Amino acid sequence: MQIKTAEFVVSNSDVAKCPNSRLPEYAFIGRSNVGKSSLINMLTGRKSLAKTSGKPGKTQLINHFLINKNWHLVDLPGYGYARVSKSSKKTFQKFITQYFSFREQLVTAFVLVDIRHKPQPIDLEFMQWLGENGIPFSIIFTKADKLKPSAITRHVEDYRNILLEFWEAMPNYFITSSSKDIGKEELLGYIDNLNAN
Ligand code: GDP
Repeated sequence: MQIKTAEFVVSNSDVAKCPNSRLPEYAFIGRSNVGKSSLINMLTGRKSLAKTSGKPGKTQLINHFLINKNWHLVDLPGYGYARVSKSSKKTFQKFITQYFSFREQLVTAFVLVDIRHKPQPIDLEFMQWLGENGIPFSIIFTKADKLKPSAITRHVEDYRNILLEFWEAMPNYFITSSSKDIGKEELLGYIDNLNAN
């Protein structure tokens, strides 16, 4: 798939105010600083469609972008940033939970994790919560340019070993690098296939 048009639609913190359309949508979520904005900019071929985070944890909103006039890319807030207050953490949890529980247009979520790190409890807990709630998701490993291929394989195996304790199969996953333009075609092809079904 080629992304021909990518337009910002709306930002809000209330699932009820998300676009009232039947277009399929795909949500991107991960820890602050994981490289989510860079990935969205790589996918859409725009330099600054999603704001790369000068101040992690500040963009606590659900951002909808209309892609090729036929699907929505949803940029969700980064989680796990230590400096946000307890009350804003609670608000965050509430609207994210509501987004995933009530947004019928959601086809799949993409959970981003930094390929350099060992599996982190916060990411594993989030994946487990998605699984328990029947929300389909794939993993996107980011910043693959930072590791040698052998280390990439090893780190993916670490995830596989942990996740197979909970599930029968490893979720679908993608290896990406926004700096080196890796994984773009595969990811867009995956979305294209889902849109066609
Ligand atoms: P966000 O907070 O998840 O939206 O993360 P950003 O996209 O703002 O990226 C956080 C930091 O990681 C920035 O300094 C980026 O330049 C860097 N970064 C993002 N993607 C990559 C990547 O693929 N490779 C490398 N080496 N750095 C990246």
